[in-house]
Amino acid sequence: MTIYFNNGVYADKETMKVSIDDRGYYFGDGVYEVVKVYDGKLYTAEEHFTRFLQSAKKIRLDLPYTIEEFTEIAKKLAVDNGIVEGHVYIQATRGAAPRMHNFPGEDVVPMITAYAIHNPRPLSKIKEGVAVKTTDDIRWLRCDIKSLNLLGNVLAKQEAYEAGCAEAVFVRDGIVTEGSSSNMFGVKDGILYTHPATNLILNGITRRVVLKLCAKHSIGVMEEPFTLEQFNEMDELFLTSTTSEITPIVSVDGKPVGEGVPGRVTERLQQVFEETIHELKME
Ligand code: PLP
Repeated sequence: MTIYFNNGVYADKETMKVSIDDRGYYFGDGVYEVVKVYDGKLYTAEEHFTRFLQSAKKIRLDLPYTIEEFTEIAKKLAVDNGIVEGHVYIQATRGAAPRMHNFPGEDVVPMITAYAIHNPRPLSKIKEGVAVKTTDDIRWLRCDIKSLNLLGNVLAKQEAYEAGCAEAVFVRDGIVTEGSSSNMFGVKDGILYTHPATNLILNGITRRVVLKLCAKHSIGVMEEPFTLEQFNEMDELFLTSTTSEITPIVSVDGKPVGEGVPGRVTERLQQVFEETIHELKME
């Protein structure tokens, strides 16, 4: 039995019902978050739920819970489902109403659903690295919103999978923006490069953790756009996300990155990131 959350009710997944008229279903009119659970504890929950409320605000969706209340919901789901290592998924749509593009009336309430699921850390990918494929960034211009509208991301990820790659790297006007479900980082001469947190990328929570760790451990950072040519000439590459953590990239479009193995700066960051997980476990 998997316990889900649905607008204030905790119940078995099989008993949950969402309207056929839900705007998430019609338009992808909603936002979502994924929060990692390590050792039964939520990792960076405050940052995730702050971003959740910010995403909702950007699409003019008023959510009926605070950051603290969302955190309690996520905790309860992890506990009730016995999740030790996994994640909590939470989404909010603009609710159910007969299909019309403009917003429904005030009487329509958001539909909030959430669950917790077992999901072990992808340790072999984290250790050995992954291959990626570049692709045109065909998405809209509000990639800073963690929107349910993920068609551009879905098509890119599928293209990468069909090429035997773990992730797609978006390139917009010659600039590397981010992955289909991750942020992109390069290392050149010991300096870390990543796209700035503009409307063209999602400002990942893991990305922010990495930038904080760089500041703490005196690793130089350039948050500036870089071209695909620069990306291809980096000494090291890695991607970050809540579930992938810090995953080295060892080849791009079939060509090896550096020696074709995870780089030193990447491994150092993985090490200090790991310490943040251990600190959480010690709490
Ligand atoms: N960029 C995109 C498009 C994503 O979908 C994600 C995560 O799913 C990320 C970046 C990484 O964000 P986070 O580190 O918060 O998981």
